[in-house]
Amino acid sequence: MNLQDLKSKFKALYNAEPLLVRSPGRINIIGEHTDYNDGFVMPAAIDKAIYVGISKRDDNEVHLFSASYQQSDVSSVTDLKKSENEWANYILGVADQIQKRGYKFGGFNFYIDGDVPLGAGLSSSAAVECATGYALDQLFGLNIEKMDIALIGQKAEQTFAGVNCGIMDQFASVFGKKDHATMLDCRSMEYSYIPLKLDGYKLVLLNTNVKHSLSDSAYNKRRASCEQGVAWVKEQYADVTSLRDVDMAMLDNCVKAKDKEVYTKCKFVIEEIERLQKAAEELKNGNLKALGKLMLETHEGLSADYEVSCAELDFLVDCVKPLDEVLGARMMGGGFGGCTINIIKEEKIPRLIEELTLKYEQQFGLKLGAYVVTTDDGTSVIS
Ligand code: ADP
Ligand code: MG
Repeated sequence: MNLQDLKSKFKALYNAEPLLVRSPGRINIIGEHTDYNDGFVMPAAIDKAIYVGISKRDDNEVHLFSASYQQSDVSSVTDLKKSENEWANYILGVADQIQKRGYKFGGFNFYIDGDVPLGAGLSSSAAVECATGYALDQLFGLNIEKMDIALIGQKAEQTFAGVNCGIMDQFASVFGKKDHATMLDCRSMEYSYIPLKLDGYKLVLLNTNVKHSLSDSAYNKRRASCEQGVAWVKEQYADVTSLRDVDMAMLDNCVKAKDKEVYTKCKFVIEEIERLQKAAEELKNGNLKALGKLMLETHEGLSADYEVSCAELDFLVDCVKPLDEVLGARMMGGGFGGCTINIIKEEKIPRLIEELTLKYEQQFGLKLGAYVVTTDDGTSVIS
């Protein structure tokens, strides 16, 4: 992103000097469908981000401009409501949530640009929300806690964008740290940083460029299976409140004979929570190979047991699984499309992407997206 260019466009549009804020997109190294089961996740912020320029106005008006959409949107801080411009809602929703928490601020000029691919599962939406929250906080000196910036973003996504999301994406965007993965306990909201030394390897995201429409209903069904499993375990173990509290012996005892579908879904979540803890240990020991193996196991579980993969994602993982230069690969995110995340030996990457692009096109008639990413710091002011 050319920041000088962003600044001069802001000046040309608003005749004012902007405060600039950056908030990154994110990957999730391991820990899928664990957040809503009180488990752990292990995201990292990446070097693709949303950039916001902001300045105060003398009136109460809110003037937004999106470089990606080449659209403007005008409203007022005295009457914040949903806009017809979908992109503007992620911004206005955050302003609304900040007001609802009792903070006061006046009108502002706002310019947004970024290089997080939209809808690819890198959470451009959370990056927009966190950039907006922090920009308003810094411009008006509101002193909002960083965790609250993430929570405000999550709430805005739920209310103005209508997506019932967990906290992982906003958390990762705000708290990311270069060369580190972030391990978050979704029950206590405690977190820690784990060094991510890739020594000669890189993280590569392969974008299927598909999003199968099944995803919303399947997501709700998976959540219902997890809840049903917990309810049956609870009949014998009263203290249990989520799958986080359940081990395989308890599940075998209480669910196996009752319902195969519920059993298989719960088994995946229990295994995935355990796998993430193993992965954290392996990472701390710098054992990338072992981490990669665990990622492949996660994919296997997501595909065969949790059943949230699709032909395109399975194809991409199957293609790279036998290769020595690929340590790990799995689908990332909710499922039914989006990206796979891969750990690939650096010098082999260009050739491999070329080959996979060809194979993917032959198989599905679709263009493969590929992004080599590095980990990066979370939300900050950049000038
Ligand atoms: P993702 O997986 O990328 O978060 P979502 O569908 O949740 O996908 O969010 C994408 C939406 O976020 C876009 O449709 C747009 O409304 C908003 N958005 C993302 N990036 C930008 C940007 N650079 N400028 C304006 N709005 C953006
Ligand atoms: Mg999103």
